[in-house]
Amino acid sequence: GFTINRDYLCSDHPFTTPTIYHSSAPSTLHSAMAKMTFDGHLSFDHVENAAKDFGNRYHLMPSAVLHPKSVSDISNIIRYIFDLGLTSELTIAARGHGHSLQGQSQAYQGVVIDMESLRVPEMSFHMGEHPFVEVSAGELWINILHESLKRGLAPKSWTDYLHLTVGGTLSNAGISGQAFRHGPQIDNVYQLQVVTGRGQMVTCSEEENTDLFHAVLGGLGQFGIITKASIALEPAPRMVKWIRALYSDFSMFTNDQEHLISSANTFDYIEGFVIINRTGLLNNWRSSFNPKDPVQASQFTSEGRILFCLEVAKYFTAEEADHIDQDVDNLLSGLNYVGSTLFLSEVTYVDFLDRVHVSEIKLREKGLWEVPHPWLNLLVPRSSIHEFAQEVFGNIVKETSHGPVLIYPVDKSRWKNRTSLVTPKEDVFYLVAFLSSAIPSSTGKDGLESILTRNDRILDFCARPHLGIKQYLPHYSTTEEWRAHFGTQWDVFSMRKLSYDPLAMLAPGQRIFRRSH
Ligand code: FAD
Repeated sequence: GFTINRDYLCSDHPFTTPTIYHSSAPSTLHSAMAKMTFDGHLSFDHVENAAKDFGNRYHLMPSAVLHPKSVSDISNIIRYIFDLGLTSELTIAARGHGHSLQGQSQAYQGVVIDMESLRVPEMSFHMGEHPFVEVSAGELWINILHESLKRGLAPKSWTDYLHLTVGGTLSNAGISGQAFRHGPQIDNVYQLQVVTGRGQMVTCSEEENTDLFHAVLGGLGQFGIITKASIALEPAPRMVKWIRALYSDFSMFTNDQEHLISSANTFDYIEGFVIINRTGLLNNWRSSFNPKDPVQASQFTSEGRILFCLEVAKYFTAEEADHIDQDVDNLLSGLNYVGSTLFLSEVTYVDFLDRVHVSEIKLREKGLWEVPHPWLNLLVPRSSIHEFAQEVFGNIVKETSHGPVLIYPVDKSRWKNRTSLVTPKEDVFYLVAFLSSAIPSSTGKDGLESILTRNDRILDFCARPHLGIKQYLPHYSTTEEWRAHFGTQWDVFSMRKLSYDPLAMLAPGQRIFRRSH
């Protein structure tokens, strides 16, 4: 089933409790590890940061944090712990930017590897017919964007927010408005360097050590630590036409989205979101978007209504600037949005891609960034999306004031299908993301408990087998739930675990396998 077991949030078991526990490894082990030499350093103090993540709900204190300066630092610590074998219970978690939601990059009493310390290799660009950049897996996507643009290039597939590491998003998928065309980020990688759970450093790609390559992509950190990645690049646009338009009819909205993702001549980015009972919505947009028809737009009200917003973008270069407005008009011409609600904006490519960072800065100023984030991400098959929308938007979600609710389709017939990522069976499915922020210590409807209760209702509904819904950024507490999540992929996933991380030391925060001891 799909229900999150909430008991474990309140349990006294240290592995699962959200309280911060101060802990130390058995002291002999402690001092043995302290004697190891590294190019970087292993720290037993000030490890609190590694017990935090963006979700702000799980705080599992590690024993130590490794700040690696070389790949051999990583293989040495893994091999050391691997060689202790069943005499130890130590686990290891790579921590990218720590933007997980439920402790996935934490390791209770284990060793956390701070991947952002790993700055090798320096970014190196390879031009030619299929340009790519080789980066350290601890690199942030925003840095890769800035460096690539200096060469007129950019990665093809993104996440909505760029202050995330390569290793972190490749361990999940990396899905955003470009995925309908290019596939998720895991489909845009030529080669990886991985240190397995046995401490072996392995280079892998579609041609070499293919099984490990596929295992690690979308592999939730279970098979090895990604240390290096080669990311596909394309010529970068300069500017972006960024467009929003509203629908009150869900079928018209999804028909248009599905039409857009399947057309050859279409936008470069296609997403959408749901708006339930918001006041002053279009007024808020005016700070960054211009209504095509200001008079009519000012008469439109969103209060008390369920609306669906199509969000699309068309990239362009300096040479394309003189016909871009016409191109956009043509692409919009067959669509069925409410005429008066078309909003347009023109921004640089960087400002478009880094758009969520602007919100981050505003929320930080108000103290509303480091709050609990009870997010819920679902992959809903096309054939279930209407039933899903009717129940979830019609009955369960009463308003969308806690944060955005994204909804957009992708077509996986154009994706690579041998990675560890779990998707619904149907080719076309929707990413539906409830990106809620809870007001700390509120006991009202904007508080954590209330949002978690709502999420549970959504998950209970989604557990109906005929809907075929899967979680993205999945989170479960029992092996049975993980088995159900992986379905027919479970046997391969668990066999791969046995070969690459036989002691189940890696990424314990995913709670899929238990450390052997
Ligand atoms: P972490 O949280 O540090 O790690 C995630 C997992 O990967 C952990 O299990 C960790 O142990 C493992 N891991 C980390 N680095 C490595 C490595 N080098 N090798 C092996 N395993 C590793 N996702 C999308 O797909 N699309 C979006 O549009 C999107 N938008 C987001 C917006 C915001 C504001 C936030 C906070 C998250 C968003 N995400 C999105 C989710 C995001 O992709 C994941 O949370 C991702 O894991 C974050 O990367 P990170 O570097 O912080 O990883």
